[in-house]
Amino acid sequence: MITHLINLFFPKSCAACTSFLLADEIVICTSCRHKLPVTNHHLTKDNEVIKKFYGRIPLEFGSALFYFHKRGMVQEMIHRLKYKSLEDVGEMIGNWYAEEMKNIEIITSADFIIPVPLHKKRLRERGYNQVEKFGKAISEKFNIPYNDTILVRKVYAKTQTKKNLLGRNDISVSTFDVVFDASLDGKHFILVDDVITSGATLELCSRALLKIPNVKISIVCMAMSHS
Ligand SMILES: [Zn+2]
Repeated sequence: MITHLINLFFPKSCAACTSFLLADEIVICTSCRHKLPVTNHHLTKDNEVIKKFYGRIPLEFGSALFYFHKRGMVQEMIHRLKYKSLEDVGEMIGNWYAEEMKNIEIITSADFIIPVPLHKKRLRERGYNQVEKFGKAISEKFNIPYNDTILVRKVYAKTQTKKNLLGRNDISVSTFDVVFDASLDGKHFILVDDVITSGATLELCSRALLKIPNVKISIVCMAMSHS
């Protein structure tokens, strides 16, 4: 009742198109929900995410729910998630993806969900890790522990989009590290992130996790850039 009243006076707007939401619409409107560019990666064995990491990281499974286009709906949603404190976007996408993946045993049987970490300084600036709600929604659905202490970011990257002279993101192998003991040997980790672009960050995170003996790695992201 109170929520209805609040919505009446302060209507929530769709995170993708900004039109007002109806009472039964969550985060995005029904029209956008049907128009969002889904990849269906999880239904394809050799999908674009798996191919992106061929020869870089051995993956058990890899997928992203949406295609990310410049100035597109997904960019709009993720911008609100990252810069406008609209954390509900992550939760909505996580719930959506968990529903899609509920019959994929390799995912539902994994041991840990690990977010790509933010540096402590960035975490303080933003106040939250934008992939946390996404990862936790999947974690709750499949009863897989969410862990943000195994993988840590040691180097503060000034901006994620800044490129070095070679056009690559300015991060290196030493950016990430793992904190582990023998109890993590052979575990299957699902790395979660917002958008896959070059894949450099996820590759470095995976390489850090591969320091743990016999681990298996999967990657599940909200979106993948697509030109
Ligand atoms: Zn909309």
